[in-house]
Amino acid sequence: MNFTNTKPKVYFKTFGCRTNVFDTQVMMSNLKDFEITQDEKSANVVVINSCTVTNSADSTARGYINSLNKLPNKPRVVFTGCGVWTKGETLFKEDKVDSLFGHSEKENINELLKNEERFFNAGDLEHIDETIVEEFVGKSRAFIKIQEGCDFRCSYCIIPYVRGDARSYSEDKILEQITTLASNGFGEFILTGTNVGSYGKKKHTSLAKLLKKISLIKGVRRIRMGSIEPIQIDDEFKEIIDEPFMARHLHIALQHTSKKMLEIMNRRNKVLKDLELFEFLKDKGYALGTDFIVGHPGETDELWKEAIENLHKFPLTHVHAFTYSKRDGTPSATMKEQVKGDISKARYNELVSIIDEKNFNFRKNNKTTLEVLIEQEKNGKYIGLDQYFNQIEIQSNADLVGDWVFIENYEAKDKINVAKF
Ligand code: SF4
Repeated sequence: MNFTNTKPKVYFKTFGCRTNVFDTQVMMSNLKDFEITQDEKSANVVVINSCTVTNSADSTARGYINSLNKLPNKPRVVFTGCGVWTKGETLFKEDKVDSLFGHSEKENINELLKNEERFFNAGDLEHIDETIVEEFVGKSRAFIKIQEGCDFRCSYCIIPYVRGDARSYSEDKILEQITTLASNGFGEFILTGTNVGSYGKKKHTSLAKLLKKISLIKGVRRIRMGSIEPIQIDDEFKEIIDEPFMARHLHIALQHTSKKMLEIMNRRNKVLKDLELFEFLKDKGYALGTDFIVGHPGETDELWKEAIENLHKFPLTHVHAFTYSKRDGTPSATMKEQVKGDISKARYNELVSIIDEKNFNFRKNNKTTLEVLIEQEKNGKYIGLDQYFNQIEIQSNADLVGDWVFIENYEAKDKINVAKF
């Protein structure tokens, strides 16, 4: 590559979850001798930040790699992300990609890409990044990664094997990062990671303590969290639940509402305790979301019926529903009683329609003022999220993008709220 005149161009393709989006940001901010391009066709290098959560995520990445052959520049293809630990070796041996590096090496991306030779540097699963990401262009909310990895071993999940055990970022680094972003105008922060609720465990601190410290930073108005496990909402966390800096929405990963299914999935939560927790949080004025896997092996008609009966009792308002998809290398992949695709699909639809109705009822019956951070303008309407993580579309003559607005009168439509300002 020629570094003398113009800088070589790098295009990033990110697959998967928020954590990967964040990791791409870290790579971008460490890329000094290259130019970042949004145009795949003009790129000299394409960096693929891959996801390997299911077999089909692997196929998607493979399909994308194949599609790059058609690009006029014939860019160098560099593969990183979770897929390095599952498919990396094969892709490298088959010459599907030029080079590979693991999560732990992403801060060295500048030097790695300057290396003209082919390389495969998987790195390790203990590393924690040092990079402070200063801004998220085009967004009014900033995502902050506070930890990496997971100590749980849910039977369907490959994540601990590709991201390692739970470890936390340094508190000083997180606070420094948020301070910088808050002084750049960001008011809402979303804490993310593989298993956010495990923050601080091995450092004799906790998520609740971190939240309190973040709330003291000038400019911080609202804090949200990525998915948290029911058992991580402990007494210390419950003590901060009424604090004004907490968004009135928690996303708590149940994954299922059948007692037996939770055992099959090797989950640590239990239905009755979960229900107690959800009731407690609802009484505190929270909207509550969950992750739910439908069609995991062993989900018989009887267990599904039990799950639905229980689900009706949960004060849920949001769901990230997934139909189970096989991931080789996990215990679930070898379980005998796989559920047929059409049955999973029907169950998925049933689940989503129950939660849609619960969400609509929540919005319709809610009597509080909505605190909305406007994220974007679309066709003359301003769109943002309120404290309950519900979307609202606002008609206004003023430019509201990036503003906080307070809405007292709104109409609950089928999927979103609408208002005038
Ligand atoms: S809690 Fe379970 S599902 Fe979530 S990352 Fe850890 S092992 Fe995977």
